[in-house]
Amino acid sequence: MDDCIFCKIARGEIPSRKVYEDDELFAFHDINPARPVHLLVIPRRHITSLATIEEADAPVLGRLLAIANRLATENGSPDGFRVIINTGRVGQQEVQHLHAHVVGGPEPVGPMLKRI
Ligand code: AMP
Ligand code: ZN
Repeated sequence: MDDCIFCKIARGEIPSRKVYEDDELFAFHDINPARPVHLLVIPRRHITSLATIEEADAPVLGRLLAIANRLATENGSPDGFRVIINTGRVGQQEVQHLHAHVVGGPEPVGPMLKRI
């Protein structure tokens, strides 16, 4: 995807504060952190969202989740964290390249959602 901002970040064409990369995954600090620790973990390969995944995407998504604890611990959230994957219109996904927010810090992150 030529004009996808997260594809460009994964390719190094747009700078980011990288915390991890391997052949399939790339992780970096969110530019507008909602908590003291706020990382984004993405597949290098363009996948639009959890609403568009296919069976073949399962391994990379499993690896994406499996690395969250290590990244959270290494970046200041050693006692747990929250993973959020906003999806589609209702999930209010802004960037159309699948990404997991890993949020945390020294203190609890707060309620999951405000109740209506
Ligand atoms: P979402 O609403 O789940 O699509 O979240 C998109 C996230 O991407 C937001 O938290 C933004 O702050 C973050 N973001 C957008 N552009 C950049 C960028 N260039 N570098 C780091 N984070 C970004
Ligand atoms: Zn992309």
